[in-house]
Amino acid sequence: MKYISTRGEMPPISFIETVFEGLAPDGGLIIPERIPLLSKEEKERWKNLSYLELAYEVFRLFVSEIPEEDLKDLVKKSYSTFHHPEVTPVLKVGKVYILELFHGPTFAFKDVALQFLGNLFEYLLKKEDRKINILGATSGDTGAAAIYGVKGKSNIAIFILHPHKRVSPVQALMMTTVLDPNVHNLAILGSFDDCQAIVKELFMDLPFKKKYNLTAINSINFARILAQIVYYFYAYFRISESTGVEEVRFSVPTGNFGDIFAGFLAKRMFGEGIERLILATNENDILSRFVNYGDYSVREVIPTISPAMDIQIASNFERYLYYLYGEDAQRTSFAMQKFAHTKKLIFSEEEIKRVQRDFLSRSVNQEETLQTIKDFYAETGYLLDPHTAVGVKAGLTFKDERPMICLATAHPAKFPEVVSKAIGKGFSLPEEIERLKAQPQKFEVLEKDRETVRGYLERFAIT
Ligand SMILES: *Cc1c(COP(=O)(O)O)cnc(C)c1O
Repeated sequence: MKYISTRGEMPPISFIETVFEGLAPDGGLIIPERIPLLSKEEKERWKNLSYLELAYEVFRLFVSEIPEEDLKDLVKKSYSTFHHPEVTPVLKVGKVYILELFHGPTFAFKDVALQFLGNLFEYLLKKEDRKINILGATSGDTGAAAIYGVKGKSNIAIFILHPHKRVSPVQALMMTTVLDPNVHNLAILGSFDDCQAIVKELFMDLPFKKKYNLTAINSINFARILAQIVYYFYAYFRISESTGVEEVRFSVPTGNFGDIFAGFLAKRMFGEGIERLILATNENDILSRFVNYGDYSVREVIPTISPAMDIQIASNFERYLYYLYGEDAQRTSFAMQKFAHTKKLIFSEEEIKRVQRDFLSRSVNQEETLQTIKDFYAETGYLLDPHTAVGVKAGLTFKDERPMICLATAHPAKFPEVVSKAIGKGFSLPEEIERLKAQPQKFEVLEKDRETVRGYLERFAIT
């Protein structure tokens, strides 16, 4: 499998190059040159596989350059850090299914992708005798999961920008209590979009990027999307096995469009099986407006109780746009350049109809989110984190006769203030989280200024 850019100006590259490239040199996002379609035989064969076996089968379709045994080892190593033998178990809770994606080391679904990516980096760097500096922006979960993915690994330094005091205290602690010398936490005096803009601009500076082997770990890295495809299949097979049902819907709490884009690929690969994906947003509803009205226009970021979704410009959206435009790279490129100036894209009735064959969407406000946590707990005894609650609320809205599988993207203990407020009482946190509070921290507060960040990198990058 080769990889191409959504903007069409990059000669096809290998999977390994894709892993290190992050953003394509033409400013586009990297995608596989085609989406594999599963055969009936493959589906039959896959349905009884364990998570690890399934991950290997999915990866193999997209990764041609890593020997079989090595790829198997990478999968095994990446998911042995999870606290659950099924890696991503799926449970029936009340009227919906909950796909628990939070059993990794940082209690968030991003571990599924970043434990794999960290090991993949280490493996490839050793083989090629290279060093990289990872640069990324986080609104919370990505940073912690990225840091846990690479902390202490050789040939890698990591620089993670987060909006100072705008990530939850537990999330901040998870990042800042990592003291490994290859880990650099940069607390930026600004919003997540400011952090993301600085990172994007530094990546666009090609000589700088090249000099320091700057590498992305945020959700634009295709290897992350790849890892996230697996649990859509895994959940589908568990439910069709237990209920005999052949068609399901997934509800996905969405920010940067990475997770749901993985769902979109799974849906395409499957052909039939995933009827539609529910795109759930909080009050930062650009993607809901896109699905419902064809209005993709940027507004101010509103800080909410589901901060990992407090995003206006969804960095993976361009990938979907490419498919919506019938894989027309020129049109995608033109639209994205226009969007960079006008902060707005408008879609035709016909396009909106096509979008709505893939997605249903709604935005869930903070009051509804709290109410959902409260009601769900009262009805089932199950605690939802605020991101998952947004997805559950949207999932319940679009619940029909098909199983509704709601992705649980974080453990409730990552947002104890919000969850306690919703249920009107405290609850006990896992010991791994409790322990962090007493540990020393390491981070640097910086202005929201590209040159300041560049200067910091120049001082601390490994070369
Ligand atoms: C990152 C994140 C999301 C959003 O996922 P995207 O891939 O950015 O759409 C949702 N919930 C939690 C807890 C997250 O960390």
